[in-house]
Amino acid sequence: MDVEKVFHMTGGVGDTSYARNSSLQKKGSDMVKHITIETIQEVYMKTTPKSIGIADLGCSSGQNTFSTIKTLVDAVGETCQKLSLYPPPEFRIYLNDLPTNDFNAIFKSLPDFYKELKEHRNYGISSPSDCSPAIYIAGYPGTFYGRLFPDNCLHFIYSSYSLHWLSRVPAGIYDKEGKSVNKGSIYISESSPAEVSQAYHRQFQEDFNLFLRSRSGELVSGGSAVLILLGRGGSDHVDRGNSFLWKILSRSFKILISKGQVDAKSLDEYDVHFYAASEDEIREEVSREGSFVVERLEMFEMEKKAEGEMSYGTAVAMAVRAIQESMISHHFGEEILDSLFDIFGKLVDEELGVEEISLLSFVLALKKL
Ligand code: SAH
Repeated sequence: MDVEKVFHMTGGVGDTSYARNSSLQKKGSDMVKHITIETIQEVYMKTTPKSIGIADLGCSSGQNTFSTIKTLVDAVGETCQKLSLYPPPEFRIYLNDLPTNDFNAIFKSLPDFYKELKEHRNYGISSPSDCSPAIYIAGYPGTFYGRLFPDNCLHFIYSSYSLHWLSRVPAGIYDKEGKSVNKGSIYISESSPAEVSQAYHRQFQEDFNLFLRSRSGELVSGGSAVLILLGRGGSDHVDRGNSFLWKILSRSFKILISKGQVDAKSLDEYDVHFYAASEDEIREEVSREGSFVVERLEMFEMEKKAEGEMSYGTAVAMAVRAIQESMISHHFGEEILDSLFDIFGKLVDEELGVEEISLLSFVLALKKL
């Protein structure tokens, strides 16, 4: 399956859209917002550009996209105000995601968003002629595994909950006939042969290296990146964290197989292009690639609170559905989605009654050398 052509978060603003089902990711990035703010402020103070280039890689669509822009514009604006650096810089904000992302939804919201930004953010400058910072927002479709921007045009790169997505399902999990050797599982599990976890790790190394190399060309000297991604706590791939959610999704598929709604062969052929890296693996790749120094690397766990009437299991099921729906419906057909995620949500709640599930994330602040 061609990830670049098929993979996208569910667009629009309907019940199953990413826009309506991304509060878990918002909570996660809010938990480490202070690191994002401090990092961009440091970059601004060091470089004081007249025009600051900012990219959000894997921006998706919906409130999370806009709240990131607000946070970054405010952080720089406050620094200008504190240090009496007038006028504030013009902001060039590039929103990147894969080409099938719902960029239209973002563009449609832009007029109101510009108005909101300009009306409420004058950073204490009273003259009406120069009171609002100039903010230019552009969509940048394409994969972040490769160059996206010209040389030295960015000061700050942000990416939240995107880099655990690999560029593809690792080639190493397929045998000579092109069949997946990871039978009955959709990610690394207890029953996966050793070559499966090795292939996933190799794909992560290759992808993350290309990501870092590409970004290092795009950033000015003194530029930084803040990356938030899902990960794992130790060297074991199988844990009661992110890998456990994929196991529950495999179990949900197996229930549909037992009801005759899914063919077992289709499950054998389905694997996710996801990888939960460990802290050591991340550090190793940053140091091997050599363009960046790790300023901060912290692991954190999202708090488990459901919103409104929804159980936590249902909230996780809605979030995973908004993320995986494009791939699953492409492979299995969209008619299974409702029953699949209904079962998945119930299984997550059931498992939480037995033992904790800890969804771990990393926040990484990198400085270009
Ligand atoms: N940053 C948002 C969205 C995270 S969802 C938030 O925090 O809520 C992950 C996003 O990464 C998706 O929109 C997905 O399409 C995008 N993505 C995954 N792989 C990508 C790639 N190779 N290049 C660009 N975007 C990618």
